[in-house]
Amino acid sequence: MGKERQNSISIPVDSSVSYPTEIGNWIDNKECKAVSGDFFSKLSPATGEVLLQVARSGKTDVKAAVESAKRAQIDWAQATPVSRGDVLRAASMILRERADELAKIVALETGKSVKDALGEVGAAVEMGFFVAGEGRRFYGKTTTSAVPNKAAFIVRQPLGVAGLIIAANTPIANVAWKVFPALLCGNAAVLKSSEDTPLTAWMCAKIFCEAGVPAGVLNVVHGFGEEAGAPLVDHPDVALISFTGSTEVGRLIQKIAGARLAKVCLELGGKNPLIVCDDADLDKAVEAAVMSACSNAGQRCAAGTRLIVFDAVYETFKEKLLTRVRALKVGCRDSDDYGPVINEEQLENMVAAVKKARAAGAKLLTGGKRMVGPAHVQGYFIEPTVLEDSDPLSEISRTELFGPICCLYRAKNFEEAVASANASPYGLTAAIHTKNIDRAMTFLGKIQSGVAVVNGPTYGSEPHLPFGGLKDSGTGWREAGSEALDVYSDWKTLYINFDPSKA
Ligand code: NAD
Repeated sequence: MGKERQNSISIPVDSSVSYPTEIGNWIDNKECKAVSGDFFSKLSPATGEVLLQVARSGKTDVKAAVESAKRAQIDWAQATPVSRGDVLRAASMILRERADELAKIVALETGKSVKDALGEVGAAVEMGFFVAGEGRRFYGKTTTSAVPNKAAFIVRQPLGVAGLIIAANTPIANVAWKVFPALLCGNAAVLKSSEDTPLTAWMCAKIFCEAGVPAGVLNVVHGFGEEAGAPLVDHPDVALISFTGSTEVGRLIQKIAGARLAKVCLELGGKNPLIVCDDADLDKAVEAAVMSACSNAGQRCAAGTRLIVFDAVYETFKEKLLTRVRALKVGCRDSDDYGPVINEEQLENMVAAVKKARAAGAKLLTGGKRMVGPAHVQGYFIEPTVLEDSDPLSEISRTELFGPICCLYRAKNFEEAVASANASPYGLTAAIHTKNIDRAMTFLGKIQSGVAVVNGPTYGSEPHLPFGGLKDSGTGWREAGSEALDVYSDWKTLYINFDPSKA
């Protein structure tokens, strides 16, 4: 499939991109329709128009993909990690060669600027190169035994079929973070793309095939969570579910996959704090806060949405923040600061959440509405939004909104600020702005998060460093870094008894 006729649309930058009018699943290195023959429409977040039709898959399609993966995994696991890494390096190189085209696809599907999308493609490429190199390390351990003439060591072994389910916020990076390590470790994978960004996953599948990934080793199934995601979670031949998405869906997945004793890696939401101390460089803190809250339209698990500011600098920080926020440019061009949110439902939920927060006593300082000017009315754009005086225990303080919305909180001193930062169901990332080394080090020790930053934004990760969170932000696994190999492999302990008298 992949309808011959191509769409060509001018994305809101000075360039155009071609893509098919219909896309199917990718199973056994072939494109195929959903067995039901059904499709769903993928809309442009920037304009609301229908971009393409996407295979609407269900249980039968997932079953076919898992069977293909199960067959292919046996030979793939026999290849050395180095040769698997070689194939993945080749895929990274194609991603890099086609970065401009891929960035336009990401921009088209998400509404973010091509500049931001290009950064995201770059991150995916770097992840590929890093993971390919892991094929030449793939370290195990050697150790001693209490028993004479007995050697002991541990090596990694694949799990089998990996079920990968991803969110839409950074679509190509989300594919890369899961597919590269899953395949390096000798698994075959079935990726359930996000229904909001299927085209990026479809293009990646074709690129991995072109790079030499054998048939069945990477399969991509499109569709909605309950229809195409749930059967993957429930499939007895899927040894691992690696999921990136909301805490609510993560809980459900843990319950279902956990009941059949599958390995479950959950990378979930955040409500990340950024503390501004009285000795902070306020201009830098404002910049970090605005970027943490609003870049990528706030659609980051690592977005900084709770700004906890010392009383002594609260009013000054607030004025500077509001000046900067009001100057933000919202649109899809490279010169804009952020674009639309991914779909209309998300937008409406956010506007409703702000309304509810106000009714509960929060004060709206700026924003809070859907943008309805001529440049925005067709798309899913929301004003950058800042609130204050919301109760730390209220819904808006404890719920992730996944949009450019943040709340200001006051703190009397350092202890109160750290306690307030930790008073959250989530524990993904956190930042502090201070010039005081004692405060910085104490914060790094006390903050309950998987990632902690001094004098920077709450987001930003590198391929060679682990990423993940505590509490409701995850289940303790780390993606990226060598630590990702722990998600996608199991240890095998080996003993060899030998007899020196026979040497
Ligand atoms: P979501 O949970 O609604 O959906 C994520 C994926 O799960 C989609 O592919 C969806 O189709 C699928 N899904 C939904 N219901 C399912 C079910 N019953 N069974 C199986 N699959 C199902 O999340 P979203 O709104 O697409 O993404 C935003 C969320 O992702 C935010 O909470 C954000 O913080 C989180 N996120 C986390 C990280 C991280 O690394 N911690 C990174 C990016 C995004």
